[in-house]
Amino acid sequence: MATASADSLSLAGKTVVIDPGHNGGNASHAAEIARLVPMGFGQTKTCDTTGTNADDGYPEYQFNLQVSLLVQQLLQQRRITVILTRTNDDGVGPCVDQRAAIGNNAHADAAVSIHGDGYDTGGHGFQIIQAARSVGGSANDARSNALAHALHATFLTESGLTPATYIGTEGYESRSDLAGLNLSTVPKILVECGNMKNLGDIALMESSAGRSRIAQAIADGIIEFLTSGT
Ligand code: ZN
Repeated sequence: MATASADSLSLAGKTVVIDPGHNGGNASHAAEIARLVPMGFGQTKTCDTTGTNADDGYPEYQFNLQVSLLVQQLLQQRRITVILTRTNDDGVGPCVDQRAAIGNNAHADAAVSIHGDGYDTGGHGFQIIQAARSVGGSANDARSNALAHALHATFLTESGLTPATYIGTEGYESRSDLAGLNLSTVPKILVECGNMKNLGDIALMESSAGRSRIAQAIADGIIEFLTSGT
């Protein structure tokens, strides 16, 4: 039986930006992260926020980076060039406009921001968020929509999480207030992987096995998008 060669699985030449939301130094640098930056279409918003945390103190920024590093490994196995917008939990920012610029400057084939949500205990599940419109224009928005659908499919089957029960529509959401999406000229989405205030979601998000499932879903969705030819 023929097996795929390593070369046929290679996606060398593709570039993906992975953007772990927030940062560990944000809480102690309130003035820096409160600075107003462009968010596209003539509006401004704050540089960044601290993010949320689980009730036991496990911070969102840590979850975001842990998952991002796993996604990086999985994509690198396919020889994809991966750029992270931050590589540790010790800094401040980068500001949301800079997170978009990193993807734009790299001419990334895809960019994904990774977050955890902080709703009340009752809601659970993932949200795949797109910009209502980006400065990249309608063709770029259509590519972001294709990326969103690819990740939605892999989240459904691989992550262990359901579409969000408390916001959006069946796990999809369109927003106009996210600078990192508005300012993107490359296909980009933001994933709220789960609700860190919900007991079921956080049990999965705090376990290394759960984070591996989430990272696999993200990586497989990106790879599906990169190879689908749409
Ligand atoms: Zn967040």
